[in-house]
Amino acid sequence: MRNDEIEREAVRGNGAMARALDEAVAAGAAGEVPVGGVLVDGAGDIIAAAGNRVERDHDPTAHAEMLVLREGAARLGAKRLAGCDLYVTLEPCPMCAGAIVQARIARVVYGAADPKAGACDSLYRLADDPRLNHRAEVRGGLLAVECGALLSQFFQTRRPKREVITQL
Ligand code: ZN
Repeated sequence: MRNDEIEREAVRGNGAMARALDEAVAAGAAGEVPVGGVLVDGAGDIIAAAGNRVERDHDPTAHAEMLVLREGAARLGAKRLAGCDLYVTLEPCPMCAGAIVQARIARVVYGAADPKAGACDSLYRLADDPRLNHRAEVRGGLLAVECGALLSQFFQTRRPKREVITQL
């Protein structure tokens, strides 16, 4: 890849992740774990964007990745999303990594790693497992600081405060 191509790709990638971050912020404001994702087609256009909706929809499968895969496939009128890239603020879980393979996503780019549930690098490597019939290219760490800070802020404010013992 030439230098200007690398630069153009970086700008495009940061733009997509910035949009995913906006979705994550909106989800967090609605009481959801702040995770957002976007789907980018082969031409570089964002064709779907969503934040986590698990709480609002009472749906354990309503992760941002699942929502953008559904929206993108419906929009393209196709069951597969070959040539599309998925950007997500948090490393995908096993369910979403499985769906990414089913959708034939070309590349998954995530922000923060998830040492507790990540299935692209941290706990499993489902998205590019050579035993499966499709492998998505995986890149982690794009805007990882911003993506991770959003999550840690969210969990800090939700964690119950420790009771202060005034009398012993
Ligand atoms: Zn997931």
